[in-house]
Amino acid sequence: ESDASEVEGPTVPVYACQRRTALPNWNQILTDALEILAEEAEFGNSEGRSLAFARAAPVLRSIPYAVTRFEDLNSLPCFGAHSRKIVQEITEDGSSVEVQRVLHSERYRTLKVFSGIFGVGKKTADRWYQEGLRTLDDLRKKEKKLNRQQEAGLQHYTDLNSPVTRLEADKIQHVVQDAVLRFLPGAIITLTGGFQRGKQSGHDVDFLITHPTEGKEMGLLIKVVSWLSSQGLLLYHHMKQNSYKEPTQMSVQASKDRLDHFESCFSIFKLDTPNEQMESSSTAAENIRNWKALRVDLVVTPFSQYPFALLGWTGSKHFERELRRFAVHERKMILNSHALYDTKQNVMLPAHSEEDIFAHLGLDYILPTERNA
Ligand code: ATP
Ligand code: MN
Ligand code: MN
Repeated sequence: ESDASEVEGPTVPVYACQRRTALPNWNQILTDALEILAEEAEFGNSEGRSLAFARAAPVLRSIPYAVTRFEDLNSLPCFGAHSRKIVQEITEDGSSVEVQRVLHSERYRTLKVFSGIFGVGKKTADRWYQEGLRTLDDLRKKEKKLNRQQEAGLQHYTDLNSPVTRLEADKIQHVVQDAVLRFLPGAIITLTGGFQRGKQSGHDVDFLITHPTEGKEMGLLIKVVSWLSSQGLLLYHHMKQNSYKEPTQMSVQASKDRLDHFESCFSIFKLDTPNEQMESSSTAAENIRNWKALRVDLVVTPFSQYPFALLGWTGSKHFERELRRFAVHERKMILNSHALYDTKQNVMLPAHSEEDIFAHLGLDYILPTERNA
């Protein structure tokens, strides 16, 4: 048995922000299974259990080979007894009884459908389930009191739950770029999120907007959104005001806030899809819809916070969570999408680039395409 250690590759670091996680994923069957259990635990408010599965899956995403034997896990970090058992079941029997049970459970399936509605979180989904609601039609029929966002989410459910392609993201980028430059020449518009990580599809399109002259970005978003709206390009939007106060020091709490304080717009775009339905066999004109609803996030950042915002919005969610955890526990530093603070020297650490932030943290620079943890 001791021979096994001789063929082991380099050890995999514990924190996801220390690993290079490129696409593709060589262990998708296993990571899908672990992520289903993580989500199921989250639906059940078992945060610890959820996190255990949510940390194990990215380890398998980061290795450039397929795990085919349970013993392959011996050299990998973040695998507790439960996660190991799931991998054992799948590698030996082809599937996991527990995962199959979750996938077929009425509760999981229902919460999955409800939380797939834009504007519906896990709590709301669970409440509706407790009330006996099971389908989208139940929501429509029962005249459930939905807010404006949920109403739009329900209305465009099918479109919003079909993946956004890279081509669609590029088209949206042109529209956003045109709108922003109309009001602020010299502005910088960056595609972030999953597409910045090289993904070929995503659940939405994320943009960061800034201007090299700090202050010029103020008042921009409302003009852009009004214009987009007047052009009939927005099916829904809500805005959030900038609520960031530049601190002189930061507490650990500042790295735990899931949401940031940038001025932003969460929207549903109406994207024209002129030729795509042409080959459809349908002849009834009313059946031909030449547009698609798409989720788009627009975030405006002052130039001095741009590297932090870029790092925070490029993701993945797990990579972000791990960066912040690494900063606090290994470096006594506090990181969020606005700033980095060193609690030992009591100073804010400025950055001109993402590279600067990794350097402050004493981490090797990880390319966006290697952050698919
Ligand atoms: P997908 O392709 O499914 O959209 P994604 O990685 O782009 O994947 P998003 O949910 O769009 O996922 O989020 C992108 C990044 O932005 C994540 O790292 C997330 O932490 C961050 N983020 C998303 N929403 C917010 C928010 N409201 N406030 C602060 N950060 C956010
Ligand atoms: Mn995204
Ligand atoms: Mn987003």
